[in-house]
Amino acid sequence: MPRQRAADAPRIVHRTSRIALRTTSAQRRRCFGLLRSGGDVWATVLDFNEIRRRNGATLVVTYQGLCRELAVAGAGCFGELSSVGARSILRRYADAWMSAAKRRGAGDTRARYPRRKKALVPSRYYAGTFSLNGRHLTLPTARGAAPLLLRLTRDVPYEPSTVRAVTLVADGHRLSVDVTAEVPVDWYAVGTGPDPEQSAGVDLGIIHLYALADQEGALLVSGRALRAESRLHLAESKARSRAATRRAPSRGQRGSRRWRRYRARTKVLEARHQRRLKQARHEAARAVVDYALERRIGTLVVGDPRGLLRRNAGVRQNRAISEWGVGQLISSLTDKAEVAGIAVVLVDERGSSSTCPRCAGPVPKPKGRSFSCPACHLNAHRDIVGAANIASRSPRGGIVIDPAGLATMHRRAGQHLPGRTRRDPRRVAMGNRARSKGLWPAVARPFAVPQDADGESLALDIDPSAARNRIPSLIQGEGNW
Ligand SMILES: [Zn+2]
Repeated sequence: MPRQRAADAPRIVHRTSRIALRTTSAQRRRCFGLLRSGGDVWATVLDFNEIRRRNGATLVVTYQGLCRELAVAGAGCFGELSSVGARSILRRYADAWMSAAKRRGAGDTRARYPRRKKALVPSRYYAGTFSLNGRHLTLPTARGAAPLLLRLTRDVPYEPSTVRAVTLVADGHRLSVDVTAEVPVDWYAVGTGPDPEQSAGVDLGIIHLYALADQEGALLVSGRALRAESRLHLAESKARSRAATRRAPSRGQRGSRRWRRYRARTKVLEARHQRRLKQARHEAARAVVDYALERRIGTLVVGDPRGLLRRNAGVRQNRAISEWGVGQLISSLTDKAEVAGIAVVLVDERGSSSTCPRCAGPVPKPKGRSFSCPACHLNAHRDIVGAANIASRSPRGGIVIDPAGLATMHRRAGQHLPGRTRRDPRRVAMGNRARSKGLWPAVARPFAVPQDADGESLALDIDPSAARNRIPSLIQGEGNW
């Protein structure tokens, strides 16, 4: 819950970043203990209300009411979990219950009250209950237990005084903390900041994650590295599952040790794949916001395709759409734009790639990347045409953009993605690691990026035509997106 602020205080937003923990095995055990105790608190609340429901008693669903019940239960019920941590789980339950009630009240019958037990539930600690000094974090624990000292793997990207909460989470096998801070919205000298009158259209896609068009130019952010990452991940997981199927246990049987190890490794690889895609989407959104700031664009009109994606499009297309992560593309763009003082308006993107922006006539769906109108002979890039059409649909007054001959800037997302090999190119090679420990003289090369004979980076060197041959459905996406 955000704290009270003075009415004339500068505008702030809350932002959270996930930072992995570097733990000893004892710390790791204690962290998982806290998460399991969180799961116990969650399960206890569910059971408590289930019993009350069966007895015809009123449910206890408010945060204050649940806290009173927790106080009655007394200390020491939930292992090392402090009362602050336990109360944060009560808050999570109360919030989930209230939002379900609100949605059901509004007629949404799909909204469910919290009812599923979970093994691990994150606990949250608000400012004043934990201490954060550089990379050293101390979490409170139950009375009688030593406080939990933890080390972060990187610096917190916020001013220390603005950090409002930390949440202990398990991300697959990885322990992390989500650090939430109050981030001030960027402030500009008069005449230098984004101008709300200046708008641009943004088309979301798989080939180009973002295509932006304004009256003076266009920006295309390539999603090629993400597609390569998805393709390699798919090939790798298929090969692994082929190798492991004969070890699969039959129904009701406990799997062999090798099988369980395979399953655990699969989870790790899947989580890594998702992290890599997520990071690349953040980079892409950053490129769009930087471009908008440079051009003083104050309104981004974004075509929202999510309404069109509900239908079942077949195994391959469904997979491509879920790997695309359009929800995250929209949310990370909105978050970054908000901090920069840029407004984001979502509009329906239906038909934006099959309408001519110049003569407004219908155009047969283009096969490749180039759009050409049979009526007025407009030739332009398909995604920029989409962005131009979206810009014209802004509820705050659309603008007319002629997409022919716009100066186009190209950016890539996912500079960290490995491309040809599965190894993260940012990872320090063994030799360099030894150097950094002083075993060899230091060499000023922070990242070992694979290079060819001419010193060109191989990190993203995937032949686009070859990729096109292998995954036609991903490249020549059918449907309206
Ligand atoms: Zn036309």
